[in-house]
Amino acid sequence: ATPVSILIATGSSAQRGVLFKDGGSLEKLRRTNIILLDKTGTLTEGSPQVTAIHPADGSHKAYMLSISAALASQSAHPLAQAIVRAARDKQSIYSEAQNFLETAGRGMEGYVAGKRVVVGNRRWLLEQDIHFKDQPDQPGYTRLYIAVNDKFIGTLVLIDELKEDARKVVQALQRRAEVWMVTGDEEPAAAAVAIHAGIDQVKVRAGMLPEDKLTLIRELQQQGRSVAMVGDGINDAAALAAADVGMAMGGGTDAAKQAGDIVLIGNRLSHIIDAYTWSRQTMRNVH
Ligand code: ADP
Ligand code: MG
Repeated sequence: ATPVSILIATGSSAQRGVLFKDGGSLEKLRRTNIILLDKTGTLTEGSPQVTAIHPADGSHKAYMLSISAALASQSAHPLAQAIVRAARDKQSIYSEAQNFLETAGRGMEGYVAGKRVVVGNRRWLLEQDIHFKDQPDQPGYTRLYIAVNDKFIGTLVLIDELKEDARKVVQALQRRAEVWMVTGDEEPAAAAVAIHAGIDQVKVRAGMLPEDKLTLIRELQQQGRSVAMVGDGINDAAALAAADVGMAMGGGTDAAKQAGDIVLIGNRLSHIIDAYTWSRQTMRNVH
């Protein structure tokens, strides 16, 4: 390959929203035959909204929101930010939680006014032996469970809209590679997003911890596949680094952008297609 022509392609592409960190990723991208898309913040807008609060036992909705916000105000997770926004909209007063801890793919914990508060997904509460009545999932919605002093007090329901062009982009990508969706979110939320995005259910992996995404990529590579991965979160960083080509959304976390070979600086999904197109054109010019 001629470095000069690659550099030209690289420079002009950056102006159009795609930053290739090195020329090699152009060629590698051309060879990928499977592309893994993260859900939250990649296929979806990544700015969820709290749409409902369901108390379990006569707890007050305002209380549930304010103790959740006390934890969430210390997290950068999109779901946490949604909780803080909801609390502000409702003019709910919240303090800062003490001894705040966050566990990837699970949720948050900390002390609010001397009480231990836990907010996260089903798995997060189950792992702490906190029992709750399972509430039916609505497809496409993410449910977060809240417990105070190990007692379940209810759930928050959030929705994160699919990006407007997600379906179109997925369709275009499916002409170039096999398209999968990988997400830390739970099955029902994942399945609904996949349906709307036009991704086959057998190509959806839900409940994936950061290390699960990494393991999946290694397995695919061992099967001889060449893997592209697109993500935006801290939880995607290891996967982005392990993929043959990692693509980070420009609006995502610094961890993802550092780990990726390509940064979609324009933060548009359609730039994935541009990257594929350029990777082919460049090679055609070179040989
Ligand atoms: P994704 O792969 O879809 O970007 P994450 O790995 O970031 O998702 O999170 C997976 C799941 O873990 C979330 O859907 C949520 O249930 C739970 N979770 C992780 N971090 C938090 C947090 N700070 N607050 C609430 N829930 C969280
Ligand atoms: Mg994400």
